[in-house]
Amino acid sequence: MSAELTFVAPRRAKPSRHLADLSMAERRAAVVELGEKPFRAEQLSRHYFERLTTDPAHMTDLPAASRDRLVEGLMPGLLTSVREITCDDGTTRKTLWKLFDGALVESVLMRYPDRVTLCVSSQAGCGMNCPFCATGQAGLTRNMSTAEIVEQVVAGARALARDEIPGGTGRVSNIVFMGMGEPLANYKAVIGAVRRIVDPAPEGLGISARGVTVSTVGLVPAIEKLSNEGLPVTLAVSLHAPDDELRDTLVPVNTRWKVAEVLDAAWSYVARTKRRVSIEYALIKDINDQEWRADLLGRLLKGNLVHVNLIPLNPTPGSKWTASRPEDERAFVRRLEHHGVPVTVRDTRGREIDGACGQLAAATPDS
Ligand code: SAH
Repeated sequence: MSAELTFVAPRRAKPSRHLADLSMAERRAAVVELGEKPFRAEQLSRHYFERLTTDPAHMTDLPAASRDRLVEGLMPGLLTSVREITCDDGTTRKTLWKLFDGALVESVLMRYPDRVTLCVSSQAGCGMNCPFCATGQAGLTRNMSTAEIVEQVVAGARALARDEIPGGTGRVSNIVFMGMGEPLANYKAVIGAVRRIVDPAPEGLGISARGVTVSTVGLVPAIEKLSNEGLPVTLAVSLHAPDDELRDTLVPVNTRWKVAEVLDAAWSYVARTKRRVSIEYALIKDINDQEWRADLLGRLLKGNLVHVNLIPLNPTPGSKWTASRPEDERAFVRRLEHHGVPVTVRDTRGREIDGACGQLAAATPDS
């Protein structure tokens, strides 16, 4: 009797090694490992971060015989575009990406007259479970690697450099970590990505740190850590309620770190970085949009270097919640202004393309 053996290929646990995961010293070591001179690491890095190319045919400064090996060894494709949707005459473009293991993430490019903002994901899914957020409903699939995060930015930069977005060739000026995931729950990979984004070529993309915003539900120890990184990025805190009773339900991690602790961490961040903190507040009809809550919020925030970003709720499919009435939104703004707290209502680009966090991935079968 012979036992039949079936060989099952081991599932790769991690995305392939990519130069965006590595420091310049590590890139040099990796290049040497591939049988090349260390200085090839700088050349390769310039192709990726400056010329935004991974095509061996374009790398005429590298020996023809080495190009494929170097590209294969250090620039494997990490993201495959599955769907692309545009609106606003092509100046808003949302891409659904598939990662090596089939996990899906989204990024959104938004071109304005004076800037280009790229909204990136930091995790496939999210473990924070906020009930109004599409990503939160499906739970966390996995953390993204530094290079997977960076590739979203490189893809956006490439689309702009190649004149694929109406308005002529351009550059990415702002990066917001407001796509799928809780960036501070994937701390190490996110900090690595921020460094690659802000480090000048050949190390990275050379985008100003002032244009980078990291948005969090309020993981207090990670906010404290971030304030000591020496990276002048903007911190955005997704508050959504000024009182613990309601915030416990809208942002469940509030049961661990309360409103007062989160705001204390934010003020320490301001003291340390001199950067204005942004408070995100999704206005949900009859849930968190009462004038008394605006008043309470104003009292908590006034006198600090802060700005409130009100986001009309983008209802997720099947949700009982919806955006606030215009008059309630106006009253909310007025109460905050009364306390001298700067406030703007975020424009709602991308609504018609399932712009809310996680909606595109959620609407795609097999996700
Ligand atoms: N996890 C991070 C970043 C991702 S979400 C965070 O929570 O900050 C980016 C922002 O979009 C957050 O402020 C989030 O609360 C908000 N958001 C999520 N779903 C939304 C929806 N359906 N309508 C409006 N804002 C939403």
